[in-house]
Amino acid sequence: MSSSTAIREELCKYAQKTVANKLVVGPGGNISARHEGTMYLSPSGFALDEIKPEQWVEVDIATGDITDIGLRPSSEVLMHLYAYRANPNIGAIVHTHPPYCIAFTLVERELPIMFPDQAALVGRTVYVDYVLPTTDKLADAVVAKVNDASSILLGNHGLVTTGRNLREAYYRTEVVEESSKIYLIAKAIREPKVLTEEEFREIASLESEAYRIQLLQKMK
Ligand SMILES: [Zn+2]
Repeated sequence: MSSSTAIREELCKYAQKTVANKLVVGPGGNISARHEGTMYLSPSGFALDEIKPEQWVEVDIATGDITDIGLRPSSEVLMHLYAYRANPNIGAIVHTHPPYCIAFTLVERELPIMFPDQAALVGRTVYVDYVLPTTDKLADAVVAKVNDASSILLGNHGLVTTGRNLREAYYRTEVVEESSKIYLIAKAIREPKVLTEEEFREIASLESEAYRIQLLQKMK
């Protein structure tokens, strides 16, 4: 199996998970992965769980050239392209419309860090104000943050997570959605108690790498 075949199959697997776990509905959301100098991006107009391995659209990251397979790339192609160009450590990008994340952005901004798994697996979540989707304005707003955080809430819209690989980017989406849900449940009762900066740094510095790897292994 060539590695581009492997990456196409992995994209299908995580695309199906985003739909199964209700992180996106209908033809919303888009996912990509980097392989060497190419990104493989979801095609426009498909529900993510309908995409077949051969339908992921190849885009040359340096030139932006799209390999013609008769399908248009996702309308957020610029956001993905610019993010890979801006941060060489990004190997995959997951953009979804998770309901608790969206609800969170209607009333709040940056998501506080509330528990150890969130601190270790995701770290800080940043926020960008609503901008018109599919425009280079959205691409620019997201790219301005891709070196600050691996998760970016899009006001009145959704979430973008990045990772070194698809698995990491995908699980970050799950953790941020779960964190937003927990925050909103607690907030309905009273002001949530969040981790202090010191408590967060303790996790982030002390054993974060070992702890994160352990958690990711558990998720297999
Ligand atoms: Zn979107």
